Amino acid sequence: MRPYEVIHRKRDGKPVPPADVAALVRGYAEGAVPDYQMAAFCMAVFFRGLSPEELGALVESMLHSGDVLDLSDIPGVKVDKHSTGGVGDKVSLALAPLAAACGVKVPMVSGRGLGHTGGTLDKLESIPGFRTDLPVERFREIVASAGACLVGQTARIAPADRKLYALRDLTATVESIPLIAASIMSKKLAEGIDALVLDVKVGSGAFMKRAEDARRLAATLAAIGRGMGKKVSALLTDMDQPLGRAVGNALEVREAVDLLRDEGPRDLREVTVELTAEMLVLGGVAPDREEARRKVGAAIGDGRGFLKLCEIVEAQGGDPDALADPALLPRAARTLDVAAEVAGVVQAIDAEAVGLAAMALGAGRSRVEDRVDPAAGLVVLKKLGDEVEAGEAIATLHAGASPLEAPEAVADRVRAAYQIGAARVPTEPLVRERIGPEDDVGALAGP
Ligand code: URA
Repeated sequence: MRPYEVIHRKRDGKPVPPADVAALVRGYAEGAVPDYQMAAFCMAVFFRGLSPEELGALVESMLHSGDVLDLSDIPGVKVDKHSTGGVGDKVSLALAPLAAACGVKVPMVSGRGLGHTGGTLDKLESIPGFRTDLPVERFREIVASAGACLVGQTARIAPADRKLYALRDLTATVESIPLIAASIMSKKLAEGIDALVLDVKVGSGAFMKRAEDARRLAATLAAIGRGMGKKVSALLTDMDQPLGRAVGNALEVREAVDLLRDEGPRDLREVTVELTAEMLVLGGVAPDREEARRKVGAAIGDGRGFLKLCEIVEAQGGDPDALADPALLPRAARTLDVAAEVAGVVQAIDAEAVGLAAMALGAGRSRVEDRVDPAAGLVVLKKLGDEVEAGEAIATLHAGASPLEAPEAVADRVRAAYQIGAARVPTEPLVRERIGPEDDVGALAGP
């Protein structure tokens, strides 16, 4: 079928033979199918969705457009975690060493921050010397020896996704659940994993603001992974406020270290323990989630998680002394407290606005080529349900060397992100829902 016919059938809601979806993607990756036809196809998918067979063909063709790692010679079950992105989400920094300390092998390919969400690679690179661009052979060696390695995506992993994502970004076709799911899973499945834990964020700071969208994305991701023979579980976790208190790269490394020293904030600890416990169960090193939680708690309590992080950092060229003595991490020259204008209880926090405020201070990027300032960011002092006095600090800003906006203007944005009122309002549980490996997610179709 010619690209024109594929687009025509999809536009009209008629099934497209999976082999023709695959041929379209292959043709696009090789340059034979032009951008305008692929953009039209994406828009048709945006409105019509994909059948499970079409989605499977899309993922397979994107996955096999590049290298697929084979880690089967490394003993142990290889399990990764993927988060759909949030504000203050530094879970991977603690989860990878904790899972490795408990006997799971973690080959983690992470991303960079974009827009209001941060990225694990930027956080790690605030550790002096830390390298995220290791050759595949070194990645393999570190997974085998230390149990976990955290690197960036190479140009050879799912190149069709790279090209397609850039096109979707310019053609208003990013927000399509089948296209997002295919994009995420084509990259994850290229890592040589046996199992995957998904952290699908939901709330004001998440990609998915509504629980039903997050649920559908989680189910679609899980269905794709299982269709490829991988064990998958998914948690829908709350992103109605930043996770923990720190937002910004070096600040988040400090907070992850606090967690591994048994001193981290309660919400960050709970989400990290729950996700790591899922990895332990999928990895076969714990019989059930209760035992898995106990093992993760023990690895925090006796310091094995922290020592494992030091080992990984050293293996990846970083200075582990910067973890033991966080004064060695980059530090902002200027800090500024944001004072509340009224007294009351924190009823809502626009977490996306907080993420954008951190970006304006220099912690994030609005375009892929922007540089981040590792020292920049902010610390949230008041969270949902906390009482505040008028004039009391609700957050502390850490201004980068050349912030995009004056810290005083950013302070106004942070103040505006807070809703402070008279009465306490109910909050969502941190883990809102769970799809276990045994749960039926059905066959997914639709936009
Ligand atoms: N993240 C991805 O990797 N791909 C998408 O399409 C959206 C978010």
